[in-house]
Amino acid sequence: MAPEGSRLVGIDVGGTKCLGVLVDASGTVVAECRKPTPHAHELIPVLASIVEELGGASTVGIGVPGLVTFDGVVRASPNLRGARDLPVASGLGAAINARVHVENDATSAAFAEWRAGAAAGADDAIVVTLGTGIGGGIVMGGRLQRGAHGFAGEMGHMIVERDGIACPCGLRGCWERYASGSALGDPATGRTGEQIVAAARQGDATSIARIEEFAGWVAIGLASLVNLCDPSVVVLGGGVLGSRDTVMPSIRTKFAEALYSAEARPHPRLEVAVLGERAGAIGAALLASTPV
Ligand SMILES: [Zn+2]
Repeated sequence: MAPEGSRLVGIDVGGTKCLGVLVDASGTVVAECRKPTPHAHELIPVLASIVEELGGASTVGIGVPGLVTFDGVVRASPNLRGARDLPVASGLGAAINARVHVENDATSAAFAEWRAGAAAGADDAIVVTLGTGIGGGIVMGGRLQRGAHGFAGEMGHMIVERDGIACPCGLRGCWERYASGSALGDPATGRTGEQIVAAARQGDATSIARIEEFAGWVAIGLASLVNLCDPSVVVLGGGVLGSRDTVMPSIRTKFAEALYSAEARPHPRLEVAVLGERAGAIGAALLASTPV
């Protein structure tokens, strides 16, 4: 936790906007600031200006989509134009004279839900965010799992169908092509996942059937993760789960059907994320202030 008197800022670098928050040591947001996400070449000055507008900081955490090394270099980021081997931690640290920690955005959001959200108190938890893609984080034995290089938790690119739908990552059949929030949308009609959920709530049979199919894809990925990690809680986030009476019941049913030896084991609690769009920024801040 942050020492008394230190100022802690977290910034989530999204595809379209950067969301910065000033938080207290428990992760409660005190102030926030948003700016459009620039080209990668202008990212450091924009991040520095967000910290300045929030009143400065002694410790800053940044959440960035993509592969981020332990020393805060963004190796590759599909949603951040021009980001290739970008030294965000050292560059921003020098610019604002503060300690800077950089982490994958989904890992940051997972850390926030574990420390201050729906998975609080669990020693073994999986957090999955169904957004444009699927990101997440894994906590085992009371520790966030980061892997040998910092790249653990890229669950969206688990291949669930050989030679399946092409993924922007270059592979085919990745889980996020079937089970992300954007995968729920229908390109033929232009309807978004949120619109399909809304239509299903009004009783539209086509939309209800589409959600059943979608929930099946979500469930097989969740069941595989639970078979692998045996968590006590799984937290699901993303805009399409906002109406939890529509999508979550189908996911719960199909998850129970897909789990290995379902009748012979305790099932993890399936919870909906509680921190919303600020999770990535809050988690980045908490990660920067916590040795993991
Ligand atoms: Zn992929």
